[in-house]
Amino acid sequence: MIIASNFKTNHNRKSTKEFIEYIDAQNYFSEIRIFPPFTALSSFDLPPNIKVGVQDFYPVQNGSFTGEIGFEQLEEFDVNTVLVGHSERRHILGESQKVIVDKYNYAKQKECEIIYCVGEPKEVREQGIEAVMAYIWEQFDGIDIDYDELIVAYEPVWAIGTGLSASKDDIKEVLEHLRVKVKAPLLYGGSVKVETTQEILSIENCDGVLVGTASWKVENFSKMVEIADNKKEEK
Ligand code: PEP
Repeated sequence: MIIASNFKTNHNRKSTKEFIEYIDAQNYFSEIRIFPPFTALSSFDLPPNIKVGVQDFYPVQNGSFTGEIGFEQLEEFDVNTVLVGHSERRHILGESQKVIVDKYNYAKQKECEIIYCVGEPKEVREQGIEAVMAYIWEQFDGIDIDYDELIVAYEPVWAIGTGLSASKDDIKEVLEHLRVKVKAPLLYGGSVKVETTQEILSIENCDGVLVGTASWKVENFSKMVEIADNKKEEK
């Protein structure tokens, strides 16, 4: 199971360090991914199942791209896990599929683990599963789905940061469709809470969760990882 926390524009250097140290001290065995803001990156000394990644990057080693972060800066902190295609970057920051593909290919060339996010807006969801899948497959245009270090996160746009999670059946249906072509681990993201983690992790084809809001309190994120650890033991 993979349990990932996306800090978005939350936490600072001090609170990120405290968060990571708290999680590390629990000795969990699930795969844990933590995506703090760039400013909180540091050389953390962590076991192999805990990785600190970035929410974004500019697809260059270095250069003249005012305000951007390239791989020269990330390599200083041994970052090799990245988010690509998050809905907030697609819809709020206006990233096109071309920009997303450039980032994907650059991260792939750098042999990074990539959590690639896909998901439909509300108006598409209202048209039913065929429209949802057509929309999602378009988000795979130009993306190498056979990349070994790929993890796919299904994150319906209308469920992100809204408190409205997709239903168990809706998640199951989309993951089932994805599984036909995508062999990579599949995560669900969209208003996951401590109370819903157990049920979501029990969905067929669900290999974990990507969590924003509910994960920012370390005690909550810790409980989610504990649920994942317990599930593994059940099997
Ligand atoms: C996310 O940022 O990927 C996310 C799923 O956020 P939230 O849990 O707040 O919906």
